Amino acid sequence: MDLPSHARVVIVGGGIAGCSTAYHLAKLGITDVLLLEQGKLTSGTTWHAAGLVGQMRPNRTMTQMSKYGIELYATLEAETGLATGWKQCGSVNVARTPERMKVLRKQLALARSFGVECHEISPTQAGDIWPVMRTDDLQGALWLPGDGKANPADLCMSLAKGARNRGVKMIEGVEVTGVRVEHGRVAGVRTAQGEVRCDVVVNCAGQWARQFGVLAGVNVPLFSAEHFYIVTGRIEGVHTMLPVMRDPDGFIYYKEEVGGLVMGGFEPKAKPWQVDPIPSTFQFELLGEDWDQFEPLMTNALHRTPCLEKAEIKMLLNGPESFTPDGNFILGEAPELRNYFVCAGFNSAGIANSGGAGRLVAEWIAQGEPSTDVWEVDIRRFGACTGNRKALAERTGETLGLHYAMRWPRQELETARPLRTSPLYDILAAKGAEFGNKNGWERANYFRPPGAPRPAHTLGRPGWLDWMIAEQKATREAVALYDQSSFSKLLVQGRDALALLQRLCANEMDVPVGKMVYSPMLNERGGVESDLTVMRQARDRFLVVTGSAQATRDADWITRHIGSDEHVTLTDVSAMYCVLSVMGPKARELLARVCPDDLSPDALKFSWTKEIDLGFARVRAARMSYVGGPGFELYVPVEMSRHVYLALTDAGQDLGLRDAGYYALDALRIEQGRRAWGAELGPDETPWQAGLAFSVKLDKPSSFIGQEALRALRGQPLAKKLVTVVLDSPEVFVWGGESLLLDGAPVGELSSAGFSPLAGACVALAYVRGPAAAAAHDGTPVQLEVWGERAAARLFDRWPPAATRAPA
Ligand SMILES: Cc1cc2nc3c(=O)[nH]c(=O)nc-3n(C[C@H](O)[C@H](O)[C@H](O)COP(=O)(O)OP(=O)(O)OC[C@H]3O[C@@H](n4cnc5c(N)ncnc54)[C@H](O)[C@@H]3O)c2cc1C
Repeated sequence: MDLPSHARVVIVGGGIAGCSTAYHLAKLGITDVLLLEQGKLTSGTTWHAAGLVGQMRPNRTMTQMSKYGIELYATLEAETGLATGWKQCGSVNVARTPERMKVLRKQLALARSFGVECHEISPTQAGDIWPVMRTDDLQGALWLPGDGKANPADLCMSLAKGARNRGVKMIEGVEVTGVRVEHGRVAGVRTAQGEVRCDVVVNCAGQWARQFGVLAGVNVPLFSAEHFYIVTGRIEGVHTMLPVMRDPDGFIYYKEEVGGLVMGGFEPKAKPWQVDPIPSTFQFELLGEDWDQFEPLMTNALHRTPCLEKAEIKMLLNGPESFTPDGNFILGEAPELRNYFVCAGFNSAGIANSGGAGRLVAEWIAQGEPSTDVWEVDIRRFGACTGNRKALAERTGETLGLHYAMRWPRQELETARPLRTSPLYDILAAKGAEFGNKNGWERANYFRPPGAPRPAHTLGRPGWLDWMIAEQKATREAVALYDQSSFSKLLVQGRDALALLQRLCANEMDVPVGKMVYSPMLNERGGVESDLTVMRQARDRFLVVTGSAQATRDADWITRHIGSDEHVTLTDVSAMYCVLSVMGPKARELLARVCPDDLSPDALKFSWTKEIDLGFARVRAARMSYVGGPGFELYVPVEMSRHVYLALTDAGQDLGLRDAGYYALDALRIEQGRRAWGAELGPDETPWQAGLAFSVKLDKPSSFIGQEALRALRGQPLAKKLVTVVLDSPEVFVWGGESLLLDGAPVGELSSAGFSPLAGACVALAYVRGPAAAAAHDGTPVQLEVWGERAAARLFDRWPPAATRAPA
């Protein structure tokens, strides 16, 4: 087929991601689509995948996406006439340890809440369903009858046929060597056979997606790892409909193939494929066997399935697959270049997820925004620094293993750290800070007393709890110092800065210079794209302060809304200012010792800022508090932050000043009902549902995005409602993600949770969904599914009660 001179959309890559994207674009009526593949369709990674297809993903939206994929795979053959190899054989997930069984029970509760059929079964029942496994050491298992398997290459070809039937052109043997950019937008692609002009490019280049992205200055942070499975000859008792079986404690999985077993897995320390760049000629190719690397999986498999000892091992397949820094795939429009989309980085789950992912990307292209909250997989969660290849290689060695490794609550990834550090990092480390990582930033989670060992991970009451409570107590009763320098800070300035922010923000932004405003930014559906604190620094200059993980996303949202005739610039100044939060009833007294300026409530009202002297430094003090209660956020130029920190800590010794970390901060903000974007807030939640009506000025003089949707929804019954959940027992520890039951039926999940000294128990935030939202009132008794046990709790619309609420 000749290369056309123009197509509306060019898809680069003919693996399952590219073919699914093409199929779904065509289904949405976008048929002027050209898919270019440097080799043959499926010749990259898709042809050698094992083909396990499961429904469960960590959250509700992603599970819906996965479930849709399965529905598609089950019906595609009837539509296209090409077999997919889809078999709904179900899957069994087994647990060797009591802790793993608890994790499986949490998944069971979530599956029920997400509408996925799932059952707990005994080891004996697991053995009945999967007769060739050893069960005497098992604690139990889950049975998911809706899961299955497919033949990856056939499935991909069937999607390709579905796309072609609707008019998509696919040309093999054409390597795309560059992207033409005009006026900051995609204008075409270059190939050895000539150029094709286009409006949209979709990078579906699999493990080549990073190096292909670089050609257009787009960061697609992924890196390949060598990835293995064995294929056996026929084994007695293994039949076509034998379910998929996963034994995560042994890091292994199984599926039937031609009467034998495919057994592969996710070893804890993986082997990055150190080839850079990956040659375009790597087609239908595999890597060499590495039995040493496979040994831990083989040992565990011989234990679980002794029949392997005598089975014929036909091959040890080693194929490269790309993994991302957080183990989740990468979808969406690149923030660096308009109309450049990515659908890649599938972390060994591309067969299961490409059906849903292709649809999401197609909708994103067709509608200009995703149809639902895709933050977990949104390309904008990655900052530019994540493109470093050494860091990617090391992280890939870790993220592959995360698939089956026991994931403890609050467990942090370990590789490629520390990278982004505040100037106080070494000082805080010397004082016992235990760091966590957000968007590459190191942040103190809590402070470990001298000599105390680092607590082991646990599902129950954590070893650091008492230390965190001491930090919380200092915040509520004396004064605590939080290093919140990782906040994203975006300077928006120019003649039309106010007009732009008025259009993007639901709150009134035309405030006096020096005032701070909390506001949601909404999409057209009225969902929360971000929540910001905006400081007006001058008539035409605003400092937008947002979450540590949101710099790229929010900068993208703001800049894409700057009109061509508007004069506004946005600069990411996150690394220019530290934020030191001085929180607690003695915060003002502490500041008075190092600052001659008047910080009394009359001189600096709540939500106002002013420039002050602090020690020898000049800083901007804001009367703001995320943890609730009195306090000041200090915006300190980076080069003076060490001085300011030392001045404060020297002056505060006899006031009970304590360093405090993010565990205390998070638990205190939950206690005070403060919402966090990414947990309680997202594109699918409106301010009405989230209880943020106070931050919406529906009748402000200028209109804003989402205003019409909010008007239409005002006064309507809520599809879901945010509540505070207070546990009855001080002994039960919850972490977030637990299923919430009202009268025994699942009505939602905890979005975040932490220990509250005020309640003397854990407190959480959660959305109650459906009709239950109307029935949930202050004091409504509910139950939580905590690692398979039921725990009693109560719901509150507003908590804590006014009398005990921390005053500002
Ligand atoms: C051993 C192993 C087992 C697996 N098991 C499973 C499983 O059980 N279940 C599951 O869900 N997933 C599994 N996977 C993962 C799955 O195979 C991948 O996630 C999936 O195939 C990725 O599809 P893709 O379309 O993104 O990439 P690919 O299939 O690699 O397609 C990308 C295509 O882009 C082409 N390309 C790249 N650059 C260019 C360019 N510049 N111009 C033109 N074309 C270009 C390539 O030639 C390639 O064909 C497994 C992977 C491995 C390695």
